[in-house]
This record gives sequence, structure tokens and C-alpha cells, in this order.
Amino acid sequence: MATLKTLLREKHWLSSPEEQVKILTDHEKPGIDPFDQKLQEIGLGPLKPTGIDIFQINVGKMCNQVCKHCHVDAGPDRKEIMTRETMQMCLDVLKDTDISTVDLTGGAPEMNPDFRWFVEELSKLGKEIIVRCNLTIIVANPKYNDLPEFFRKHKINVVSSLPSFTARRTDAQRGEGVFEKSIRALKMLNAAGYGQEGTGLKLDLVYNPSGAFLPDDQEVLKAEFKRRLKSGYDIDFNDLFAITNLPVSRFLDYLLNSGNYEEYMNELANAFNPMAAAGVMCRNTVSIGWDGYMYDCDFNQMLELTFEKGVPDHVRDFDYKKIINREIIVNQHCFGCTAGAGSSCGGSTT
Ligand code: SF4
Ligand code: SF4
Repeated sequence: MATLKTLLREKHWLSSPEEQVKILTDHEKPGIDPFDQKLQEIGLGPLKPTGIDIFQINVGKMCNQVCKHCHVDAGPDRKEIMTRETMQMCLDVLKDTDISTVDLTGGAPEMNPDFRWFVEELSKLGKEIIVRCNLTIIVANPKYNDLPEFFRKHKINVVSSLPSFTARRTDAQRGEGVFEKSIRALKMLNAAGYGQEGTGLKLDLVYNPSGAFLPDDQEVLKAEFKRRLKSGYDIDFNDLFAITNLPVSRFLDYLLNSGNYEEYMNELANAFNPMAAAGVMCRNTVSIGWDGYMYDCDFNQMLELTFEKGVPDHVRDFDYKKIINREIIVNQHCFGCTAGAGSSCGGSTT
């Protein structure tokens, strides 16, 4: 299996967020309605926040993996890393607001040298902390082997991608040997109490489809993963979140390369669900990039679609009132969040 490279490393034209936005904005080519028009038709446009419950912080694009569908274009060659100074700005905001949850993501967030310090400081604020752990980082290097213990100590909710309970499918999407390492890491998390009844230590899995199609029903997938991971590997977990692949970065590249882009956009648009539209995650989440700039969501962050004009967009200038009154920036990739049962970092939204 060939080693995958980031788009940036390949100097690929799609490593430019601007080029991606150009493709997405052309709604006529795939022959679908503009997303903002769909929102207006159901009385939701322009899209407004309902509050801020979650601060999703991307602490860096560096990752030990180079997954095929990564919307961050993360990988070992990415050097963008959040500094302690920017982390402190996030802490200052969190200290003064009742935002309840901090969702740490990357890349592999644990590769940021200040990751543990940041978690400790967040813990002191009493925030609920989610870490999007790719599992393999736990076994990638002895210095990460104690992560399950560290997570346990801070009662972190661990959320981890595992697209399949088979090695073949997982490795095809996430790289050779990833399944075996993920199983080892899951066992270590289980041994630390994660996913075990009565511990309160939550271990959730994230499923995303292997190609250009919508995920199956989340509850059905969860039951199947539970059965297969228990019988095959004696592994327990709590929830499973089924998420839709959004046409951003490496997944957009895959869609264009495989000739599936237009058909996939039609599939997403045809499955538009007004209930899912009402529950999109950008309505209660603010996404912060490694350099402190704020966005409506992780996808808008990767497309460099900044906050609406006039709303301060750096965490050092955080203005709660302006942020909850802003208009959320939408484009055609948003159809990925509103298709079928809906999709967010927490899975289905309906
Ligand atoms: S583990 Fe996550 S961040 Fe890293 S390459 Fe895979 S999808 Fe991207
Ligand atoms: S892609 Fe982002 S902005 Fe668009 S609907 Fe989804 S969460 Fe909201």
C-alpha cells in the first residue's frame, strides 16, 4: 500500500482553501440548489446560532496518520501548532463564560507539546473535555503509552475514529496497520476503565463511510460494531457516532479524482432534511484554529471561511454578544450536515 501524502506536501492545487471554495460554490455544475436558498425555503436562513455550548479547539494539524478522507489535510509534515500563548487566550475566554464543553481536535492533538498542560488548565476550570484521539497515537511512541491514564485522571471523554471492525476496510481508509494498532489502543483504554460500566469514563467511536455514500443508520451501526468488537477482540465502548464525509480537502480530492463529485453532491442535496438543518453543530459551537482564528465550524475553518464581516474573528478579541448574533457562513459543503439523519462531530443530529 502506497504511503499517503498530504495535499500540501504534494503541492496539490486543492491544498488551497480558495480553490476548494471555488469548486463548492459552483452549484450549477452538479445541478443543485444553493444551500442558503434551501435554508430560506424552510425559514432557517440566514442561519443563526442558538448559543455557544462547545468550544472546539484545533491545537494543530500535525498527525501521525495521513488518512485518505481527512478534511484537515493533516499529517506528519504539517507544522501548524497552537502555542501556549493562544491556549491561554482560549482559557481566558472559557474562564469568563459558561461554555460547558471543550472539544480538542487536530491532527493528533496529543502531539502538541503543550497538550497536557492545556488539559490540566481546562480541568481546573471544570469544563467537560472531549479529546478526538486517533487511537494509534497511544501506541506510536512510548511517550504516549500513558495517555489512557492521563485521560482517566482528567475524566476526558475520548472520541475515536474507527471506520470499520475489519482490518481491510480500516487500513484502506486510514493507512496500513492502523486497525491492529487501534485495537491495541482500545484495549489499553478499556484496561484504564474506558467504556466499562460504572466507571463514568466514556469512550465513543466515530464511523464514516469508506466512499461516496451516506452512512447507514447510527443505531444499527452501533449495535453491529458492539457485537463485532466484543466477539472478535473483547472490546467495549459507549456510543458510536455516524458521520457523513463532507466534500472538503482530501475527501473533495477523492470525489473529483474518482468522478463522483457531482453525483455525491446530488445525493447530499436530495437527502436534505429540514430537521437536520435545524440541528447543525455550527449553531452551538465555535471552532478555533491553531492560530487563534475563530470559525463557524471545523469545515469552515479548513476552507478558511472566517466569521461574518464585522464580527471579531480572533479569540483574543472574543465578543460573546457579537458571536451569538452573527450570521453563519454557509456554502454547498453544508449539504453534508443536513443529509438524511444529519451529521455533526457528535454524529446524527435527528
Ligand atoms: S487521524 Fe484524523 S487528523 Fe489524522 S489524518 Fe486521520 S482523519 Fe486526519
Ligand atoms: S458545514 Fe459547518 S457551517 Fe455548514 S452546516 Fe455544517 S456545521 Fe454549519
